Amino acid sequence: MTDTILEVQNLQKKFGQHEVLRDINLTVTKGEVLSIIGRSGSGKSTLLRGLNLLEPPTSGTILFHGENVLADGFNLTQYRAKVGMVFQSFNLFNNLTVLENVVVPQVTVLKRDKAEAKAKAIAVLKQLGMDPFVNAKPAQLSGGQKQRVAIARSVAMDPEVLLFDEPTSALDPEMVDDVLNAMTDLAKTGLTMIVVTHEMQFARDVSDTVLFMNEGVVAEQGTPEQIFGDPQQAVTQDFLKRYL
Ligand code: ADP
Ligand code: MG
Repeated sequence: MTDTILEVQNLQKKFGQHEVLRDINLTVTKGEVLSIIGRSGSGKSTLLRGLNLLEPPTSGTILFHGENVLADGFNLTQYRAKVGMVFQSFNLFNNLTVLENVVVPQVTVLKRDKAEAKAKAIAVLKQLGMDPFVNAKPAQLSGGQKQRVAIARSVAMDPEVLLFDEPTSALDPEMVDDVLNAMTDLAKTGLTMIVVTHEMQFARDVSDTVLFMNEGVVAEQGTPEQIFGDPQQAVTQDFLKRYL
């Protein structure tokens, strides 16, 4: 058995004539933290949405433990539970409490019994420093707190891979570090993560692999030392100059 979880081959996504992803190839192994950086419009969100099939690719292959998730008859509901997603805009249920937000998907999707789901929710909320807020509604929370609840909701599903799409981009600056620290702690637990981010310090410090996307292709990929210390492509050098 290899410890490859996801393998993406020749992935392409078109919206009409607009080819947004062109021949994307990547591999994610168990425990890896993969950061995806690149300009706005380069296709990063489309790639994440393709990976968990919110927006199915036009062509190419996505293998999950060697199984083609684009094949007919593949169980999408189970797959989406195993490949979780955290959004920039949290997407919490505003009419539910913090605890209910974390309990409900476990019960509806994983069919966990309520008591087990509740125990799991409390443990994960505690891990993310949100246990004092179990009875609060999302509207009572700061952006950073909402995002930690959203992360807790995904983590409680025991995903094999968690996808993050610019999880700190909608936050006030003083909240950003709370969320990045929570994500750093999660990475240390061995959770496999793919993180689209503009937080270069996080990408540099926490990632095993950094992937630079440009115009729908992976322009360059390497260790943080390679990408930030010695980028080979002019487009990567140019992009990173703004962050120096
Ligand atoms: P990024 O996340 O890197 O900013 P996106 O993946 O959101 O980039 O978008 C890449 C390109 O795909 C953009 O030109 C965007 O306008 C286009 N795009 C994204 N989603 C859609 C859609 N649902 N329909 C049409 N075009 C889209
Ligand atoms: Mg995006």
